Amino acid sequence: MSNAGFNVIRCPACSTCHGRRGVSATCPHCGQRLGEHGVVVKTVRSAEALRIEVALQNTPPELRDMLRKKMNDKDPISDFNDEVPSRTMGAWVQDSKNDEGIITVASVQHTLNKNHSNLDANEVLEQAEVQGMLVRLAEGRWMLLE
Ligand SMILES: [Zn+2]
Repeated sequence: MSNAGFNVIRCPACSTCHGRRGVSATCPHCGQRLGEHGVVVKTVRSAEALRIEVALQNTPPELRDMLRKKMNDKDPISDFNDEVPSRTMGAWVQDSKNDEGIITVASVQHTLNKNHSNLDANEVLEQAEVQGMLVRLAEGRWMLLE
C-alpha cells in the first residue's frame, strides 16, 4: 500500500531527505533504489509544509530550531521568492522618488517595507545604479533618469 500523503523520505544510502507525494522509487540525490527501503520520516498535508519539513530535515539538528523560527517568522511565500525580477525592482525604485525625482535609501526602504520585501535598500539602489536607472547626486541621494 502506498501512502498518498506528502512524505518526507530519508534515503538509507546517503541519509538525505527529499519530499514526495506517495513513495519514491529512487533517491533524487544519490540514485539509490528506494521502494520500501525509503524511510518515511514524516507525513504532512500540503506541498508547502512538505517543502519546509524537507529543508528542516536536511539541516543539521543544531541549526533546525533557528531555521524553523526563521520560516515561521516570515511569510513562507516571500521566504522562497528572494529573487525579485529587475522589472519589479525598477518599479519600486521609481515608486520611491519624491516630487523632485530624488531617491534616498530611506525612501527605497519605505517602498520595500510597503511591498513586504526582505531586500536591502542599498542593494536595490546599487542594482538600479548599475542598470543606469539612477545617477548619484551625493552620498545617499540619487536622481531618477527617465
Ligand atoms: Zn540517497
